[in-house]
Amino acid sequence: MASGRKKLVFGNWKMNFSFKQAQAFAQKLSSKDLLDGVEVAVGPHSLALGAVSETLAESEISVIAQNAYYKDDGAFTGEISMPMLRGIAKYVVIGHSERRHIFHESNDLIRAKMAAALRSGIKPILCVGETLLEREHLHTSQILSDQLSVGLADLTSEEVGKIIIAYEPVWAIGTGKYAKPDEAEKMIAKIRSEISSLYGYDAANKVRILYGGSVNAHNSGAYLKLDGIDGLFVGGASLSIATFWPMIELATKAFDEESKKGKK
Ligand code: PEP
Repeated sequence: MASGRKKLVFGNWKMNFSFKQAQAFAQKLSSKDLLDGVEVAVGPHSLALGAVSETLAESEISVIAQNAYYKDDGAFTGEISMPMLRGIAKYVVIGHSERRHIFHESNDLIRAKMAAALRSGIKPILCVGETLLEREHLHTSQILSDQLSVGLADLTSEEVGKIIIAYEPVWAIGTGKYAKPDEAEKMIAKIRSEISSLYGYDAANKVRILYGGSVNAHNSGAYLKLDGIDGLFVGGASLSIATFWPMIELATKAFDEESKKGKK
């Protein structure tokens, strides 16, 4: 993987914040000075997407939609579509473990959403990861392989090279438990090698891979140094500037260190 790639620090606010709180948070974030080498993005709930997007319009910070449906329009009460996100969100989260496990989203639905996002010019962030039970039964590789092969099945190699994948072990999300950095590194390598065998070396090299699962200011430095990692996908710790900003600073440092090494 080439050095000089920006580090991504993406926050998923989930079902938190009132409309006003989301706007105020975005305002605070946009008043901070972002340094080169890091892309920051935040994911408010659907009702706050428009306001947060307007608040961040003049900043370098991007907006993430937490979910969208695969049909472009029609009788789908309660849903929003990918084309509706145009001009509002740069990214959309697809296959988050809460959508897979609480809302029973299948790999096939996720596959349709991935194609719909790309068709509409929204960059998908595909979340993959194993549950504790799957991990204990040594099924992690198979689970990742199924999530990737089905989830990406409708995409071309060129499209796969443009997406982001978040490796998020389900047992680590919101639990305070997190994958040991060397385990996360292995899984990220496994994801890249799976993509290489399905879509070729170029797609595997270009695809961005994040780690997520109880990431915070204390443990994120170790993840940011891993080989093959492009950044962090953060839930709980993205809900306050005090916990989110230190990770952005660490990512800036990791980018600088990698760039120095790359130049040697
Ligand atoms: C997430 O929701 O994707 C996540 C990683 O949450 P947390 O950081 O709270 O574990």
